[in-house]
Amino acid sequence: MYQIENCINGRKVLSASDRKQPIFNPATGEAQGELILSTLDEINAAIAAAKAAAPAWGTTPPLRRARLMFKFKDLVEQNLGEIAAAISREHGKTHADAMGEVQRGLEVIEFACGIPHLLKGEFSRNVGPNIDSWSDRQPLGVVAGITPFNFPAMVPMWMYPVAIACGNTFVLKPSERDPSAVNLVWDLFQEAGFPAGVLNVVHGDKLAVDTLLKHPDVKAISFVGSTAIAEYVYATGTAHGKRVQALGGAKNHAIVMPDADMDKTVDALMGAAYGSAGERCMAISVAVPVGEGTADRLVEALKPKVQSLKIGPWTDSDAEMGPVVTAEAKARISGFIDQGVKEGADLVVDGRGFSLQGYENGYFLGGSLFDRVTPDMEIYKQEIFGPVLGVVRAQSFAEAAKLINDHEYGNGTAIFTRDGDAARSFADQIEIGMVGINVPLPVPVAYHPSAAGSGRSSAITPSTGRKACASTPASRPSPAAGRKASSRAPSSASRPCE
Ligand code: NAD
Repeated sequence: MYQIENCINGRKVLSASDRKQPIFNPATGEAQGELILSTLDEINAAIAAAKAAAPAWGTTPPLRRARLMFKFKDLVEQNLGEIAAAISREHGKTHADAMGEVQRGLEVIEFACGIPHLLKGEFSRNVGPNIDSWSDRQPLGVVAGITPFNFPAMVPMWMYPVAIACGNTFVLKPSERDPSAVNLVWDLFQEAGFPAGVLNVVHGDKLAVDTLLKHPDVKAISFVGSTAIAEYVYATGTAHGKRVQALGGAKNHAIVMPDADMDKTVDALMGAAYGSAGERCMAISVAVPVGEGTADRLVEALKPKVQSLKIGPWTDSDAEMGPVVTAEAKARISGFIDQGVKEGADLVVDGRGFSLQGYENGYFLGGSLFDRVTPDMEIYKQEIFGPVLGVVRAQSFAEAAKLINDHEYGNGTAIFTRDGDAARSFADQIEIGMVGINVPLPVPVAYHPSAAGSGRSSAITPSTGRKACASTPASRPSPAAGRKASSRAPSSASRPCE
């Protein structure tokens, strides 16, 4: 049994709190470590350390900040396998998925290495007689991040590398369920030579979150997690005068047109729906085939693949899918499957009874596939966040697109088609921020902004109306399409953070 320390002002310190909770191994169901939920004094100490470090860090030349970021990037690269193992041990995802997660986080660190160029301002001469006008980018001071369990290394890396490269100091409150990877990466951050107090990690629960949201010294909050908490964080943080971006849950649809390449579509959907056991905010959880014939072909092709998914612990290199994160998550997902049956959906593959020899107490579920899901069903309305794909049959492209635009949630969406008109109409009309054309999980790379804040997405930020689109030819695979579509392994058929 290990204990998780806080990382405050350049040092690791064990919390003095008597509030503790176990960290489980999802593959065995055994408690393997203990998270100590920080006290108010400790949370305040982390904020104070960040505040003390802010003036000197904020005036450090961006080039010097970037040089440290380059060293950090090297160290993360050298320790990729170890970080991935720390993720898998507590999250349960396959090693390949965890490696992919760290790789996508690393891409944000690489992006942050270019910060001197990105921080350049704008200058206009003679906006009036002998009057010049310019804008530049200045750090805010102390900023904070609150992150979810499903990408314990990558989602924090969406936040602190860029914030810190810009000259801010940072307090991170990671998920309670899989906290080790963050601490491991913090060691590397310190080894890179960043001054004490620039990045602080405080482990905890609602007390830590509420303190960050209300503390006058915290200037901005970045949150990623479930929708209910995103709404709470947004409302509370902005009520306390902070800039807040809060990204919530999702229900992502993929339209399958009658002319889609069915083999490639099915391979892509297997990765997008069941990769990381469906615990991805960009997972495709609803497939919308257009026309009864398309639906029949799709379900017929998906069924044997879902039935033969290779499920195992992260230490099994053949495993395509690991367990879900906690016993509660397993019970919640099973409950949704029960409900789908009661609501009248057709359960084509039932993952509820799955048990793995030697891992009977692990939080494993098989893949589940529902056909004939309808929009009034709870399994359609809610984010299940597990290895469950629902098929909603539509009779036309317009009906399929309306389903997506009418749904409360949507982080990303995709269409599978060989028809350029359908692809273009989809990209234009769909009110979702991230759009894939024959790309199941259109997550932008680090140097393109995520468009989660626009359209009917789950993010609560001022809408920019921006869309991020990704496309690949349907019949002539590009290298990216080949990688996504040719593999049958859910863990490798798509990029893990997507
Ligand atoms: P969660 O909302 O339970 O937890 C997220 C963070 O909020 C954690 O740090 C947690 O400690 C904190 N928190 C939880 N309850 C709280 C409360 N009552 N008050 C204050 N803070 C609280 O989310 P999760 O289960 O860890 O993550 C899964 C969710 O995150 C899914 O809904 C998924 O779609 C979403 N997600 C979204 C994105 C995106 O980019 N939109 C990315 C990844 C995950």
